[in-house]
Amino acid sequence: MLLRDLVQEGSDALARAHRESPRLCAELLIAHALHKERIDILTNPDQSVDEEQRQRCLALLERKRRGEPVSYILGEKEFYGLPFSVTKDTLIPRPETEGLIDWVREHIPKERAFTFADIGTGCGNIGLTLATYFPNARGILLDCQCAALAVAKKNSERLGIRTCVLVAGDLNHLPLAPKSLDLLVANPPYIALPEEHLVMDEVLAFEPSTALFAKKNGLFCLERLIDQAPTLLREGGCLCLEHGAEQGESVRTLLAKHFFSVGTKKDLAGRERISYGTPCLGNKNNAT
Ligand code: GLN
Repeated sequence: MLLRDLVQEGSDALARAHRESPRLCAELLIAHALHKERIDILTNPDQSVDEEQRQRCLALLERKRRGEPVSYILGEKEFYGLPFSVTKDTLIPRPETEGLIDWVREHIPKERAFTFADIGTGCGNIGLTLATYFPNARGILLDCQCAALAVAKKNSERLGIRTCVLVAGDLNHLPLAPKSLDLLVANPPYIALPEEHLVMDEVLAFEPSTALFAKKNGLFCLERLIDQAPTLLREGGCLCLEHGAEQGESVRTLLAKHFFSVGTKKDLAGRERISYGTPCLGNKNNAT
């Protein structure tokens, strides 16, 4: 069988199952199964594929046909130009989250020595990307799931990062010393439970629900983080959080309790996705 015919067969099967970008998915999965790059598939479609190779490709295509995200099948997702291993224990990094990295890069000079924490690090994409761009920063990457921390550890080794520690901890017991941080970042779970029906089936069926959903109309974790920030941040420290497109106003209101200046960065589609507080006012709540 010719490679081009296998790609067509795979793409048609995914299209019939109403999967998004069927041809691209077919090319990526077939390239992976054949230990090739996608460009090899595109530039050399007339090579022949034997039966054993075809079966390997069909096995991956079948997983996608049933809805499994391509990143889990490949075991990898690119974030901010860096490769991250992902498993079903970690959320798949999203392009929106890159705005958080942009915000930090816009506000902190590259050579500055500072300490940051990435809470709910998942595969480590936020914390490890910051560590890559800020060679003098020290990072503490936390997650409440040990399986996620194992993936983050693998990614830190893969990227050659030596400036981050990985620590187990949840929002109720953050193992962080008071006034020890200059920057707190997180992409916490923020989808409201009643909005489950708006989430794509593939996400619901395969991605960890603990990384997606939060009580209090999606604001529970965001509020817990914001309220603990004044205790954890040094004077002048900043907090930068991802949230849902409709949560900007609520998050700014929560931030304004503790931070002098509060704002939101929009994503490329103009949606409010990243809000920040800077600098921290100290424990304003305790004072009032
Ligand atoms: N920090 C990871 C990400 O941004 C995981 C976030 C999460 O688990 N909510 O993708």
